[in-house]
Amino acid sequence: MSQVTITLPDGSQRSLPAGSLVRDVAEGISPRLAQAALAAVVDGKLVDLTFPLNADASVRVVTDKSPEALMLYRHSTAHLLAAAVTNLFPSVQCGIGPPTDEGFFYDFVVPRPFVPEDLDAIERKMKELASQDLVYERQMWPREEAKAFFAKRGEPLKVQLIEEKTEGQNEVSCYTIKDKETFIDFCVGPHVPSTGRLKAFKLLSTSNAYWKGDARNQPMQRVYGTAFFNEKDLKSYLTQIEEAKKRDHRKLGRELGLFTFHPWAPGAAFWQDKGTTLYNTIANYMRDVLFPAGYVEVKTPLVYNKALWEQSGHWSFYQENMFIIESADGETMSVKPMNCPGHFLLYASAAHSYRELPIRFHEQTPLHRNEKSGVLAGLTRVRQFSQDDAHCFVTPEQIGDEVERLIRLVQRVYGDFGLPYTAKLSTMPDKHLGDEATWRHAEDQLRAALDRAGMSYDVNEKDGAFYGPKIDFDVTDAIGRKWQCATIQLDYMQPENFDLKYIGADNAEHRPVVIHRAIVGSFERFIAILIEHYSGAFPLWLAPVQAIVLPIADRHAEYASFVRDQLKAAGLRVDVDDRQEKIGYKIREAQLRKVPYMLVVGDREVETSTVSVRERSGGDKGASSIDAFIASAHDEIARKGLVPVTT
Ligand SMILES: [Zn+2]
Ligand SMILES: [Zn+2]
Repeated sequence: MSQVTITLPDGSQRSLPAGSLVRDVAEGISPRLAQAALAAVVDGKLVDLTFPLNADASVRVVTDKSPEALMLYRHSTAHLLAAAVTNLFPSVQCGIGPPTDEGFFYDFVVPRPFVPEDLDAIERKMKELASQDLVYERQMWPREEAKAFFAKRGEPLKVQLIEEKTEGQNEVSCYTIKDKETFIDFCVGPHVPSTGRLKAFKLLSTSNAYWKGDARNQPMQRVYGTAFFNEKDLKSYLTQIEEAKKRDHRKLGRELGLFTFHPWAPGAAFWQDKGTTLYNTIANYMRDVLFPAGYVEVKTPLVYNKALWEQSGHWSFYQENMFIIESADGETMSVKPMNCPGHFLLYASAAHSYRELPIRFHEQTPLHRNEKSGVLAGLTRVRQFSQDDAHCFVTPEQIGDEVERLIRLVQRVYGDFGLPYTAKLSTMPDKHLGDEATWRHAEDQLRAALDRAGMSYDVNEKDGAFYGPKIDFDVTDAIGRKWQCATIQLDYMQPENFDLKYIGADNAEHRPVVIHRAIVGSFERFIAILIEHYSGAFPLWLAPVQAIVLPIADRHAEYASFVRDQLKAAGLRVDVDDRQEKIGYKIREAQLRKVPYMLVVGDREVETSTVSVRERSGGDKGASSIDAFIASAHDEIARKGLVPVTT
């Protein structure tokens, strides 16, 4: 029998009979590894343990410690969900069931929507199937036979998937759980070897969905669940989502009167006055940070002829995300989904000398992306948003300094918002533009800049964009969730596309490098993160209403107005609650509105020209003169995120 040579991650080699399974490799290494094995990576491709080794190959066994394991595990759990659903409700039709960062979901066509009791029953069935430790088996079916099989079972969506995903193939891969009577699905895999490996999962909710997320398509029911390798991780995740529900920005946004939505403007927020105050506070804060750092603010058009998008390349690879409109002259136009191409036209509208560089354009005008309505979610996934967007035009020699300055800006901004953060550097992908030497030089400059700024970072090898390396920053919120916000992205391609130039010291024309960068990113999404991070109890510098004056009785209303006017004149955002309500009621309501300071005024305060200061957390800070309160508020506002936040 012929042999194949297997190379393991440590470089060691083994010889096995051709046709041996990946599982045999794991068993050959150690029984413990064989027990822990979930799948394997063969020559860079994730495969089942039953994958046959017919040629020499590199093999890495995937266990629950491997980076790809959780997605594979969750995807396998989605199959288990579909198996339980089709067992309990034989008339349902299965759509797709991918893993996600939070768990997994599966879409079904159902005769009636699922109710909570259904979810309980489905989860019990999943546990039953898991306890039977049923095998996931990969079967290769002739393509036409598979289509006929699913058509006969009344699953036209699966037939459509096979048609779309396997064009030109003779065979398609299907997976059974136990046998095709128990469950069969068209899927490329891979999966865990058997249902017994799925130890900790939970179904969470259902929602309306549409086939392929498009509201013009067939309505479906989506079942959400999550899965972890052990009960402990599952429990801590469930605690986290309970906490997340309480601080959901959509709920708090409504309760705090920040923003609302209307079905006629999907994915575009209506900012109420308090929300607008919050929005402008952040937008103006970014201006305050950026202007001294050498940025200029510009405004470029919202609507462009499609020629611009053809030149930038967006017309071919981003068109479906753009709102396309027609001008009165019949020109095809698009609403901008990003500022970059507009900034390139602006840069190219004048000649530039190396002495002017870096040139830094900052812009906050609205952007529109044509997202499907099914994926819109509160402020985190919208169609209309603005960014603290900027493009820095630099000489190749300036990259390192500019990136260091940018990292320091990121550090300052996240510090002011009280958000912990981490950085990752993404390097040259296999498919890339430009020569390797330029890439390596740029990567070295990014690394050196990170080091100089004292920033530790992870490296995502080969994860850069095809036109340049990048540094991304994740912030971690109060309940441990990570959100990607800032990005610093080098671009060698667009300066070519737009023929951008500067005149060098040698009097010759040179290409600048463009750095795309955002620190908070979309203001909408960042506000959602802040609302949930602070649970609506914003630090003083961000709070839309910083203090509220509460007169005890009608006769104190005039003094209350006087206090308010003094505070307003000092630049503070202040309300008065002069309704004829009991003071205890007014205090409770102000606490629910999460107003940082309540200033109670009664006979004593009127007599002594003071206010009695209460914190929203319930702390009574006692009497203070109006001037002393203003001074301490100014001090607290200046300290921003360095102030511990009370809820
Ligand atoms: Zn699958
Ligand atoms: Zn850009």
